[in-house]
Amino acid sequence: MAEKFDVIVVGAGPAGTACAYTLAKAGVSVLLMERGEYPGSKNVMGGVLYRKTMEDIIPGFYKEAPVERPIVEQRFMMLDKESALNFSYKGMEWAQEPYNNFTVLRAKFDQWFADKAVQEGALLLNETVALSCIVEDGKVVGIKTDRPDGDVYADVVVLADGVNSLLAKSLGFHKEFRPDEVALAVMEVLKLDRKIIEDRFNLEGDHGCTIEIFGDSTKGILGTAWLYTNKDSLNIGVGTMLSGLIKHKLKPYELLDYVKNHPMIRPYIQGCEQQEYLAHLIPEGGYRSMPKVVGNGVIVVGDAAQLVNAIHREGSNMAMASGVMAAETIMQAREANDFSEKMLMPYRDSLLNSFVGQDLKKYKDATHHFEKFPQYFEQYIPLMNKAASQMFTVDGSSKWNKQKKIWSDLGSAKDKWKMARDLMNAWRVMK
Ligand code: FAD
Repeated sequence: MAEKFDVIVVGAGPAGTACAYTLAKAGVSVLLMERGEYPGSKNVMGGVLYRKTMEDIIPGFYKEAPVERPIVEQRFMMLDKESALNFSYKGMEWAQEPYNNFTVLRAKFDQWFADKAVQEGALLLNETVALSCIVEDGKVVGIKTDRPDGDVYADVVVLADGVNSLLAKSLGFHKEFRPDEVALAVMEVLKLDRKIIEDRFNLEGDHGCTIEIFGDSTKGILGTAWLYTNKDSLNIGVGTMLSGLIKHKLKPYELLDYVKNHPMIRPYIQGCEQQEYLAHLIPEGGYRSMPKVVGNGVIVVGDAAQLVNAIHREGSNMAMASGVMAAETIMQAREANDFSEKMLMPYRDSLLNSFVGQDLKKYKDATHHFEKFPQYFEQYIPLMNKAASQMFTVDGSSKWNKQKKIWSDLGSAKDKWKMARDLMNAWRVMK
């Protein structure tokens, strides 16, 4: 007879593992199914891990988890072709326990996190692909796998299979995503001596920093590049909306090469050795692209439910929070021994009322607005650079004259009105 569990979780990323860990800790029998050779082997992230959500799951986790560096500074670069306007926030409160965020390498972190779920009693099955949901009388009752003895059954199946959830799609929960709903990201892990990293990025000891790079890093397409410090490596990457790449006929690896050779970036990565090259999709459609997340006997979490806040590059925390909320709802449903859509619906309510739903709602129009009006990245960042160059170049011209020149560089009265309107609209979609 095929094996039956209380819950099957498909995908051992942050969402699936958080769900499996929470359930197993509460004594629920869980099968955590992962297609990769080990959890994290197929996973890609920039890689900032947000402490708070993880700490809610495993208090003090950072003392034993394979985190790279606590981030004490967030830098931002507004890039033009040969210049950059930079600003940053550095806070010593982030340098002390319990810290704020950490850089992580997913191949190590996901494996550690899944091991914790196993220690709590979850059964982890690697190198197992969930092929489809088994549906009986309109209820998901199990998963068909690629193993010879491939069917497993459960009261509830949690779909944590990532951005392109084929399983949720096969249930009719979402359609094929449009190119303006997903970003394509490519990144490299670059090996560099830790002492050089600390000197180059002005870091004390284990401290880390992140640099988000806008503007010319994506040749004006909506997106961002990033450069993050690990212990003895750097993560450099670039992600842009798929629709932008198609429209501008750009290849993501060409963009990454462009970023790596940019005069403002090149000095940071000189002498590095490429360790890994990774590519992945990011769901960036936000609130308006959220699929159906609950059905009879099934719950969708993490990227599979499109839970990414692209404006703040938060995804792993939303994934974990959704995994925990799914687990909590399942535990309530177990008390009633009812796993119908109606009984599982509180998951959706919790999600929408939590920071996950609230933040997605806050920025529900932002991505589409910035994609529709490319002037923010294409024109305004170069203008900001030009103004800074004008103001900070000491050339005998008076500061009044410089101000006049900056004002005239903004264009005609009509251009200025348009810019004012754009700023208002940007405020409207971000507020
Ligand atoms: P995933 O991490 O994608 O995990 C899904 C898992 O399911 C994988 O292990 C996969 O192998 C497995 N799987 C898929 N299909 C099957 C199947 N059929 N059978 C069995 N297993 C299956 N978020 C942040 O918080 N900070 C960042 O800095 C950040 N940077 C990012 C940079 C990049 C380049 C990308 C791509 C994403 C970034 N994100 C970031 C987003 C973050 O990585 C995701 O939001 C998060 O990983 C989602 O977790 P998840 O568990 O839902 O999905």
